[in-house]
Amino acid sequence: MMGLMQQWPLLIHKVIDYAALQHGTQEVVSRSVEGPITRSTYAKVRQNALKLAQLLKKDGIAPGDRVATLAWNTARHLETWYGITGVGAIYHTVNPRLFPEQITWIINHAEDKLIFVDLTFVPLLEKLQPQLPGLKRYVILTDAAHLPSTSLPNATCYEDWLAGADGDFVWDSFDESTAAGLCYTSGTTGHPKGVLYSHRSNLLHAMANSLPDAVGLSSTGTILPVVPLFHANSWSVAFAAPMVGAKLVMPGPKLDGASVYELLETERVTITAGVPTVWLMLLDYMQRENKTLSTVKRVMIGGAAAPRSMIEAFERGFGVNVFHAWGMTEMSPVGSLGTLKSSVTGLIENEMFDVKAKQGYAPFGVEMRITDDSNNQLPWDGKTFGHLKVRGMAVASAYFKGDGGDILDEDGFFDTGDVAHIDPQGYMQITDRAKDVIKSGGEWISTIDIENLAVGHPDVREAAVIGAKHPKWDERPLLVIVLKAGKTANRQDILDYMRDKIAKWWMPDDVQFIDEIPHTATGKINKIRLREQFKDYTLPEVTKAE
Ligand code: ADP
Repeated sequence: MMGLMQQWPLLIHKVIDYAALQHGTQEVVSRSVEGPITRSTYAKVRQNALKLAQLLKKDGIAPGDRVATLAWNTARHLETWYGITGVGAIYHTVNPRLFPEQITWIINHAEDKLIFVDLTFVPLLEKLQPQLPGLKRYVILTDAAHLPSTSLPNATCYEDWLAGADGDFVWDSFDESTAAGLCYTSGTTGHPKGVLYSHRSNLLHAMANSLPDAVGLSSTGTILPVVPLFHANSWSVAFAAPMVGAKLVMPGPKLDGASVYELLETERVTITAGVPTVWLMLLDYMQRENKTLSTVKRVMIGGAAAPRSMIEAFERGFGVNVFHAWGMTEMSPVGSLGTLKSSVTGLIENEMFDVKAKQGYAPFGVEMRITDDSNNQLPWDGKTFGHLKVRGMAVASAYFKGDGGDILDEDGFFDTGDVAHIDPQGYMQITDRAKDVIKSGGEWISTIDIENLAVGHPDVREAAVIGAKHPKWDERPLLVIVLKAGKTANRQDILDYMRDKIAKWWMPDDVQFIDEIPHTATGKINKIRLREQFKDYTLPEVTKAE
C-alpha cells in the first residue's frame, strides 16, 4: 500500500522561492570582482535568477543542456546556478585553477552551450575560445561600466542582459531526479571525470548538512564559504544557506588571510568553511598581526587533512570550535563530519583533539564501510585500516557519459580511493589515498599521519611525505618540508621532534627542505608533481651503501 502524501518534487528552485518568501531581506554580501563590497538579498537573488531563466530559455537553452560557470564566489554566481537549474538545464562549474588544456577539455566534454565568466578569466577564455566551438555565448559577470573590450564572440554584459528581462517567468517543473549540476574531479591521473548531481541529491545533501550536528546553519547565523562554488558543489552551502535563511558572505576573488579576516570581522561571520591551505594563510595573518576573532564560532576544515596543530591553533588561540569534514566530488561532497557526539563530549581536552583530528562520522544518508582487498568488511576498532567505501542518497552511481565504466561494487558501494580506519564510536580517520600510501616491507605507512605530526613543529609551515625507493624495504618515507619565514630548523631538529611520537619504523629516512610544495587545483598537496620533483633523489642510506 502506498502512502497518501503529496508528491512534492525536491527541486532546487523551491529553495530560492522559500528563501525569498521567508528570508527575503536576508543579505547576500559579496566582495565583487570589480573591488567594492556589494549587498544583495535572497529576494533579489531570486528575482535575478528568474530573469536569467527567462533569458536562457529565449536563447534556446533546453532541459538537459549544460551551461558553464567560470567564476568566484559572488551573488551573481549564485544567481546563475538558480537560473540555470530553473529551466531544467545543468550548471557546470569549471575550476579556473585547472591547466588551460584541462579547461578546454572539460568544456568540450560537457558540451557546454553558454558560459558565465568573471572579468578575471576573460583573458584566459580569449586564448581558449578558438578551441571551444560549442560555446555560443559568453556572458561576462559585470556591469556596463566595467565591461572590457574583448575578442570573445557574442560577449554579453551580465547586468545589461538581465535588465532586458522582466523576470515574469514560471520555473519549469520536472522529475526531482533530473540532472542539476556537473562537476569534474580534478583527474590527477587520466582525464577528469564528470559527477552529475540531481535536484534531489543536492537538496537532501543540503538538508543533511544544515543540521546542528553537521555544519549547523541557522537564520540567525552568517556563513562565509571560502570554499569556492567550483570546488565540489561548494560543500552544499549554495543550497543550505538559503534553505535556512542564513546570511551569506561571498569572498569573491580574494582568499588571502587579510581579505578573509576583514570579511569575517566586518560581516560578523559565525561559521566559515574552507581547505587547510586557506586556513594556513588566515592563521599566519592573524598571528602576525595579533588579531582576534570576535564573532566566528565554528570553522569547518575539509578537502584535505587538517593537522591537529591547526585545529589546536584555532581552538586554543582564537576560541573557536573547529570541526573536520571529509568527502569528495563524487559524494556531493560531504561524507563525514567531525562534530562531537554525546559519547565523546566528556573527554579531556587532549583526547578531544584526538577525536577532532579524525575526519568524523557519517551523517544520515551516508553509509560507510572499510574492506580488505577481497571486499571483506573490516572491524570498526580504530586500528584496522582498509579501503573506504560509501553508499548513499548523494553519492554518484556512475560518471557523466559512462566514463570509468561501472563504479559500484556488488553491494552498490563506491570505492573512495581512500584508506581509513573507523573507531567503535564511528569516527573515521583517513590514513591515506590508496595511491599515496607507502608500502614498506609489506606493511603500510600513512603519509598523512607523518605530515600532520611534522607540521606540529613550530618552525614548519607545510609538510609532505612521499615514498623513496629502497632496495630492501621497497619504499621508505621521505619528508619534504617548507619552513615558516625566517625559521631555521634542520633535519636533525625535525627528526628529534618526531621521535617517540610515531612508531620507529614510520620515522622518515630523510628530510628535504624546499621553498614551496606543489598543490592541485583543489588545494591538496600534489603528490604526483612532488614525486616527479624527487624522481632522481636517493635516500642517504642507499647512497652510502652504493
Ligand atoms: P579532487 O580529487 O578533484 O581534488 P575532491 O574534493 O573530490 O577533489 O577530493 C576528494 C579527496 O580529498 C578524498 O578522496 C580525500 O582523499 C581527500 N580529502 C577530502 N577531505 C579530506 C580530509 N578532511 N582529510 C583527508 N583527506 C581528505
